[in-house]
Amino acid sequence: MNRVVFFDRDGVLNVDIGYLWSKEDFVWMAGAVETIRSFNERGWRVVVVTNQSGVARGYYQESDVQALHQWMNEELTKQGAHIDSFFYCPHYPQAVKPEYAMACDCRKPQPGMILRGLAEWQADPADCILIGDKEFDVQAATAAGVKGYLFDEANLLDFVRKNGIF
Ligand SMILES: [Mg+2]
Repeated sequence: MNRVVFFDRDGVLNVDIGYLWSKEDFVWMAGAVETIRSFNERGWRVVVVTNQSGVARGYYQESDVQALHQWMNEELTKQGAHIDSFFYCPHYPQAVKPEYAMACDCRKPQPGMILRGLAEWQADPADCILIGDKEFDVQAATAAGVKGYLFDEANLLDFVRKNGIF
């Protein structure tokens, strides 16, 4: 069976500056690359689940989100790490772009992205965890049957060790 670690992106893997889309503004969170690599080496699947309502709000395009994620994996690969898959939610009920204005099943605290990740990797939720920095991340995990951890520290690797994840 596959084990999946789900990461929220902004505020967990990178510093949350609000509606980040450009690699020029991207700063890895302390310990993030090492943490991803450690999960890779232990055979976990690493999956990002990120709300990106900046698309619906017209701040940036889906192609910007996809390009940033591709760039993240290129940077990780240089350091012997990788993310196995990315899920993002571009929706927002009050979107300025009508095609994104909906009450979707993927915007956290809805569990849609996590459920899709579990299906993609054929993983039992009981074997999986999520690390997020907002209460709605943990709520989404709980709704999917996944144990959620609220990251509230400066260094992700310290947090993972302190919580006995490995
Ligand atoms: Mg976050």
